[in-house]
Amino acid sequence: MRILITGAAGFLGSHLADALLAEGHTVLGVDNLCTGSLENLRHLDREPRFEFLQHDLCEPFDPGRVDYIFNFASPASPVDYSRLGVATLLVGSVGTCNALGIAKKYGARFLHASTSECYGDPLVHPQAEDYWGNVNPVGPRSVYDESKRFSEALTMAWWRYHGVDTRLARIFNTYGPRLQKNDGRVISNFMMQALRGEDLTVYGAGDQTRSFCYISDEIEGFLGLARTDEHYPVNIGNPVEWTILDCARAVLRVTGSASRIAYAPLPVDDPIHRQPDISKAKRLFGWEPKIDLETGLRLSLDYFRGCVESDAEGKTPVRA
Ligand code: UDP
Repeated sequence: MRILITGAAGFLGSHLADALLAEGHTVLGVDNLCTGSLENLRHLDREPRFEFLQHDLCEPFDPGRVDYIFNFASPASPVDYSRLGVATLLVGSVGTCNALGIAKKYGARFLHASTSECYGDPLVHPQAEDYWGNVNPVGPRSVYDESKRFSEALTMAWWRYHGVDTRLARIFNTYGPRLQKNDGRVISNFMMQALRGEDLTVYGAGDQTRSFCYISDEIEGFLGLARTDEHYPVNIGNPVEWTILDCARAVLRVTGSASRIAYAPLPVDDPIHRQPDISKAKRLFGWEPKIDLETGLRLSLDYFRGCVESDAEGKTPVRA
């Protein structure tokens, strides 16, 4: 197949490109590089089945015939989408609409990267796909949450009214090599802080929870979902729930760091709990994650060590 990945220079998009190329497909990656990095794609420089186009998805474009579209373009970390608030809302509305138009034109199948943020600060625990969420539509996270919720509504509308063959992946916290070293996310912050010997900044009391999925498991989940005919959302994430404090302790164990834990204020609207119910993905395509948090952190160690070393030398990090 010839496959279009929007957001191909990002953490998820670049790993997805690798997986699709490994399956023998041809990939066109599109990215405006507002948060993605060409470093994530450098290893594909001489790959004849990979093509890259620097382009803003909000501007219409015609990629030529494509058979499948993975729509992953969006700022995704709280630091990035706060900085790029309007751009985040636009890519989730105008950008997703443009991508769906391309899918219709070429009869391509379509998978949209949605998010656990659709559940907001959830009042139901764990979160199954039929929970409608508890989202603040005007708070600091709303630019991301509402962008992704609108994208879901758009995707469903193009399936219902235009017959586009769509899928919705609700992605929970994911980590691994190529995670931006300075995007403020908890795993990158803790790993970088531990490796530099700095205090680990736990926000609030650290009793809020997240469920962390290693990148290779997450990508397998996307590929499994891509092969189904399910049009309603499917959670793709690791169901093992961690408090942020225990996550900090796991990072200290894995890195062998003598760093200490320091407490800082909890950001506004920071969800208290987040844990996917993945029974739908298990039932539909027999998927469940295999890599536990400590193993995944170990697999990410070299990457973060490289980031710390290249920072010290003042160079851009070479990503794994
Ligand atoms: N967090 C933290 N210290 C950090 C960065 C994040 O305690 O240095 C907490 C944050 O408050 C949240 C959780 O870790 O409760 C996950 O934050 P992240 O920014 O990774 O993503 P989110 O799941 O909130 O989108």
